[in-house]
Amino acid sequence: MVFWIGSNPNLLKNMMRFVFVYFLCLTLFGSTQIYAKTPKLRNNYDVLSYSVTLKVQPEKKFIEGANKITICAIKDLRSIELDLFPQLQISAINGTIDNIPFARDSNTFKLQFSQKIRKGDTVTFTVNFSGKPIEAKNAPWDGGFVWAKDSNNNSWVGLACEGVGPSCWFPCKDEWNDEANTSSVKLIVANGLIGVSNGRLLSKKIRMDGFTEFDWQVLSPINTYNISINIADYAHLEDVYLNEKGEQLSLDYYVLKDNVARAKTHFQQAKRMLQSFEKYFGPYPFYKDGYKLVETPYWGMEHQSCVAYGNNYQNNKFGFDFIIVHESGHEWFANSITASDKADMWIHEGFTTYSEMLYVEKQYGAARAVQYIAGQKNNIKNATPMIGPYGVNYNRTDNDLYYKGAWILHTMRGIIDNDTLWFNTIKDLNKTFYHQIVTSKQLEDFFCSRTSYNFKAFFEQYLYQAKLPVLEYFIVEKDGLNELHYRLNANVKSLKLPVKVTLSKGAFDFLTFTKRWQIIDLPYSNPADFKIDEKHFLVELRKVNAN
Ligand SMILES: [Zn+2]
Repeated sequence: MVFWIGSNPNLLKNMMRFVFVYFLCLTLFGSTQIYAKTPKLRNNYDVLSYSVTLKVQPEKKFIEGANKITICAIKDLRSIELDLFPQLQISAINGTIDNIPFARDSNTFKLQFSQKIRKGDTVTFTVNFSGKPIEAKNAPWDGGFVWAKDSNNNSWVGLACEGVGPSCWFPCKDEWNDEANTSSVKLIVANGLIGVSNGRLLSKKIRMDGFTEFDWQVLSPINTYNISINIADYAHLEDVYLNEKGEQLSLDYYVLKDNVARAKTHFQQAKRMLQSFEKYFGPYPFYKDGYKLVETPYWGMEHQSCVAYGNNYQNNKFGFDFIIVHESGHEWFANSITASDKADMWIHEGFTTYSEMLYVEKQYGAARAVQYIAGQKNNIKNATPMIGPYGVNYNRTDNDLYYKGAWILHTMRGIIDNDTLWFNTIKDLNKTFYHQIVTSKQLEDFFCSRTSYNFKAFFEQYLYQAKLPVLEYFIVEKDGLNELHYRLNANVKSLKLPVKVTLSKGAFDFLTFTKRWQIIDLPYSNPADFKIDEKHFLVELRKVNAN
């Protein structure tokens, strides 16, 4: 998702003129609720599919529906636990034969099966629910429904829930580490409105009772927080992207009717985005489910095969629409490669922020790309480690997930100093972990095994320590020459860091910094000519006194 300093659209527009993107901290999720889960009643099953039916009545801010859930028992079990916010009532849970008894506790509920479910067996049950779901005050930074109106006073409904979790609107196992293999949403809305969800539209049925059913299906694994709904008096635009192999990907755009002309022109850049990301990361991960942009009454969100778009058709000073590029970048990093725990969220935001730079590189060249990422560097705080504590629904308090995450990858490219190897590696990363749930450790091991550089100590420092490593140096004149004394001062003592510095005047070459002081002659007379390549390496440089 994206984080921004405010939600006022005018403020947003003004700020975008001169700031890149200033992401706001996750603390603004605000209403994230802490409650006790019972791990043994969650780790004993795997979700195979969700099939949600949802009738939405915007004038009452009311939803009612059912989720038909199929699970597979990982071990013999009698009971399992799922999640649903207490604002929503459960009327019954229907098994294939009988109703299943359940007990609710705050945000969770437990099912008690009448007989033991054997390891490997599948069970299907339907949870019927209704109520007034929580309303987002500041989506997508908090979470919940957004009940808006378009300029013609038609209902315009959005939903974002990455922070608070999808159990704010439907019963599910609300965890990043268990994705449904397939899912569907049957969205029931008042006649005249269009309901849009993830994946492909299988059918549309106008009923006699004043409502229309839109039946959407997703054939790929999907993060539960990415299942979403959108309702408006939409116009539907269709286009096709042809990849370099000549294969077709359907592009579907659902936009407010007033914006059709703007969208037709502006959304052409979705093809440039796809071209760029397919070049660096491999095929768009959801050809089966198609690609969509859906206009939302909030800024944006990475909803899989249904990207939420609310950036008012604006390009940034680099000539692209940040929301189209960033949220679609998440299709590779977050939606295809998914972190198993929020502690590893840099996999979503760091890689996606880095993808913005690669978009600029593909469209406008390497020099412009370096300008782009350089503009993000000053926002890095280094106040807390990138990787947080596991298993506690960890929410960060700064933006380093984005900018430092991107800069860590940019620095790795600088260290490897071999673009063929670097780009093969990140493309291979997408192939290796395609549609998988991963830990940061798995990705760290991958980079160590596929590149020429052992990044183990590097990751220890950059991901698990808050502070940057410090390059300490001083220069002394001796026999008419300048001697550079240099060492690395880092929490991780075993770190050996190759960084490009001016070993000759005006030209960068590698110098490897370690914890021990080393000396090298500099062939230039002015100590002020000593510089590090700040455009490619994220390190702190500190001149110290000669001792
Ligand atoms: Zn994001």
